[in-house]
Amino acid sequence: MPSNSIFVKAFFGKLITTTFLFCFFFIGQNVFSQNSDAPQYANAEAGWQWVGSSDGITYIPVCWENPQNFTTERLWVQNAITNTWESVANLSFYGWSQCQTNSKGIRILITDTRSNSRIGRHLDGRQNGMELNFTFRNFMPSCQAENKKEYCIKSIAVHEFGHALGFAHEQDRDDSACNAERNTGGGWKLTDYDTDSVMNYCNPRWNNDGKLSPKDIKGVQTLYGAKVVKSKGTFTVKDVLDTSAGQLWENVVLDFSNTVGGFRQFFSLSNSTSSQSRVWNFPSSGVHCYKVWTKTRFTDGKDYSGYGEGCLTLTQGKFYSFSLIQTGWNPKGYFNLKIQNDYNTKEIF
Ligand SMILES: [Zn+2]
Repeated sequence: MPSNSIFVKAFFGKLITTTFLFCFFFIGQNVFSQNSDAPQYANAEAGWQWVGSSDGITYIPVCWENPQNFTTERLWVQNAITNTWESVANLSFYGWSQCQTNSKGIRILITDTRSNSRIGRHLDGRQNGMELNFTFRNFMPSCQAENKKEYCIKSIAVHEFGHALGFAHEQDRDDSACNAERNTGGGWKLTDYDTDSVMNYCNPRWNNDGKLSPKDIKGVQTLYGAKVVKSKGTFTVKDVLDTSAGQLWENVVLDFSNTVGGFRQFFSLSNSTSSQSRVWNFPSSGVHCYKVWTKTRFTDGKDYSGYGEGCLTLTQGKFYSFSLIQTGWNPKGYFNLKIQNDYNTKEIF
């Protein structure tokens, strides 16, 4: 069947109910054969756009039909989407695990064919609704090379997720001069014609190198809203009892207010609760200082005290994870403490 698509970001609206969108890779292969769904174009009706949640975020589940051993490739896809569509619009693609029988959202089949996707919400829960090629043995062999594979997989994924969000191919617009696999159909023009769109086959940069153009960004923000950065960041501190070193229990006070009696939280670790995390919320960027005190007992029956203080530069809206660690002994007989953003560091106290 022909590669009918309607796509685009710029166009999308009236789109389609069951359109099957192919991606064109300019390598002279026509591999459209065997897909059964003939494209259909719907009139402007809200069948394609994913529905936002009451918190303003549009949550879209994603799962893999056949994750196999493609751990690295699947992470490339996930990261590519996180760093493009999800970073500029108020979207949350979540899940990314193996599909179950009744999984909703975008269901991705890994298969060596021309990558393709249905449009928008027509994907929702549809088995094999998106197909991504990770091996390129049959289709686009030029992407097999180790130095090309990541680039190919990421840039194709950005294009296909454009379809998944509701975008048709930019060249399908009636004001396009691009005739590469061009189809016609109704659509909603969200921006002026965009040569640089990831959805445009006539973009001189293939899939725009997997980077959203300014008009791609404007288009997706029109549909789903601009990314809303959380006004508060969080700061998580984890403390783990080091039972292998003979630590029996530990009590910790961590004060993040710089003033005694301020925003402090307590840890109380024992054999039955050997790990705890506490979360602080920060209303603004800047330098935030802490003081921490601890008392602990070891299997030698002795109690030890520890103390530490320090300051961290935190950025509003970011999320930090730290661990409480010992950094040595003070000549006065207690040990020094600090918090460090490395969970791999040995967490003694
Ligand atoms: Zn496409």
